[in-house]
Amino acid sequence: MISEECYELGSKSSIIRKIFSFGLKRKAQVGADKVYDFSLGNPSIPAPDTVKKAILELLEQPAEEIHAYSPAPGDAAVRKTIAESLNRRFGESFTGDNIFMTCGAAASLNICFRALGNPGDEFITFAPFFPEYRCWVEGIGASLQVIQPHLPDFQMDLEALERRINPKTKGVIVNSPNNPSGVVYTLDTIKGLAALLKRKSEEYGEPIYLIADEPYREIVYDGIEVPYLTKYYDNTLVCYSYSKSLSLPGERIGYIVIPNHLTDYTKVSSAIAGAARVLGFVCAPSLFQQVAAKCVEDTGDIDAYKNNRDLLMKGLTRLGYTCVPPQGAFYLFVKALEEDAYAFCERAKKYDLLLVPSDDFGCLGYVRIAYCVAEKTIINAMPAFEKLMKEYQ
Ligand code: PLP
Repeated sequence: MISEECYELGSKSSIIRKIFSFGLKRKAQVGADKVYDFSLGNPSIPAPDTVKKAILELLEQPAEEIHAYSPAPGDAAVRKTIAESLNRRFGESFTGDNIFMTCGAAASLNICFRALGNPGDEFITFAPFFPEYRCWVEGIGASLQVIQPHLPDFQMDLEALERRINPKTKGVIVNSPNNPSGVVYTLDTIKGLAALLKRKSEEYGEPIYLIADEPYREIVYDGIEVPYLTKYYDNTLVCYSYSKSLSLPGERIGYIVIPNHLTDYTKVSSAIAGAARVLGFVCAPSLFQQVAAKCVEDTGDIDAYKNNRDLLMKGLTRLGYTCVPPQGAFYLFVKALEEDAYAFCERAKKYDLLLVPSDDFGCLGYVRIAYCVAEKTIINAMPAFEKLMKEYQ
């Protein structure tokens, strides 16, 4: 007998992957330029030139060094460089020991859930949320509890959170800038969250951990600041990834920040190491650890995403669509024109518009538009969005 749970997960693909696969078939039939595929969050801007330069330089090193296993938590010099960069940018005082290198945010989050959680525990997140949280949390026998957004601003509903927290709550997952809404949680919201978690942790005599999922930290617009959560709440673990900031999703590189001021730092730090071991996520890719250190404060051309956001927001608003104003990431969350977002996405397909219904993000009646695409895809898609709108008028 094999694992039914894994069979179920592996035999069904996610709705995003299904739509993406449909798009590939459709492009083969009618031509790639006739299909407006807004399904996947694959960065459309190239990695910065500094990445190529770093790789070429690193390849000059002896192959047996650059391709070797690193220590399990990562190369010491790389971890130190990352810690120093975080200190410079966010006024923290981390050392290399506070950084654990991983294979991207997916690995970082899985390690944290495994390290902190036990079967029967609860992790809470805020809709709309990245759908993989559910299988990762349920994978350790814990459950994912979902709080609906505060409307219309899509900030966290802290009153609902307070009602949901209970002695089984092990952690709260926060993703800002958010996939799929593009919203950045404000400093006031974060301060409110921190005060609530502190109060509840004291009441139960056990820390409630805050898990900050931050692959989009650098992708923000209009000079908005994304609060660094370790500064506001001691029991925070930060899960970071270079997939989006350096446009390196295929290279699987990121890290976890494990601050000294965690209530039980030594134990959690060991549990993170143990979870990485159990999951086989030790010794993150050596070459890309070094690339991350060499490009530690670089990003791709974020302005290209801003241009896409502005073009799409203006275009859709002019046509009468209602969008949640995004301050970051590369997603636009748009109200579906009928209650059933799946039915709406099916209708959109008639015009070769590939949108993702919001149901799996834990929030009904919206669609996600991933605007990490070429500018011309947005321009050429507008007549299709117009025809779709006319169907509902
Ligand atoms: N968290 C969120 C919110 C994401 O959008 C993604 C990827 O799209 C991930 C985590 C996983 O990122 P990574 O490629 O670093 O594993």
